[in-house]
Amino acid sequence: MKQSIIPEEKVVEEVNKAIVEGLDIKEGSVAPDSSLIRDLGAESLDFLDINYRLEQTFGIKLARHSILEHMEEMFGEESAIDENGRLTEKAAAMLRRRFGDGGASLEPGMDIDEVPAIVTVRSIVDGVLHVLDSLPDKCTSCGASAWTPEDGSRIKCGSCGEYAVFTNGDDLVREWLQEMQEEEKIF
Ligand SMILES: [Zn+2]
Repeated sequence: MKQSIIPEEKVVEEVNKAIVEGLDIKEGSVAPDSSLIRDLGAESLDFLDINYRLEQTFGIKLARHSILEHMEEMFGEESAIDENGRLTEKAAAMLRRRFGDGGASLEPGMDIDEVPAIVTVRSIVDGVLHVLDSLPDKCTSCGASAWTPEDGSRIKCGSCGEYAVFTNGDDLVREWLQEMQEEEKIF
């Protein structure tokens, strides 16, 4: 289901806050299409910090592994990254589909070290929304359909008081890759 308990604006606001605090940069310097690495100076450890802040805020688990890592695991070695450390055609197609406009600069054969620069503020927002959208219809503890937002960001059962349990980000990436594969959209 598409959850509507936490509005997209709230997610945008919290992502901006996590980035500003995680990178220790000025408020207002974050735009939706800012590349975290290229425009905001993020390094790989910063992503962990930003993700951790968002996980705490929303009570979710974001993906720990990249789409490329999942592709290699699911579809075999060199399905995403060739022997020279370059993006395969399949991987470029997957990433373009996943990142939309943000992935427009992706080309097969590009060095995979250049790939993380496509992660923008907007793609982090999408990642959070994707996990929030895995909200089950009913509470897994008591079966009630009475979700309610606590502090605007944690979804709680209005009947028994338990927090909602979401699918974790890595499982969602695998499900998505599986769907792409089955629908033969990419392969
Ligand atoms: Zn409940």
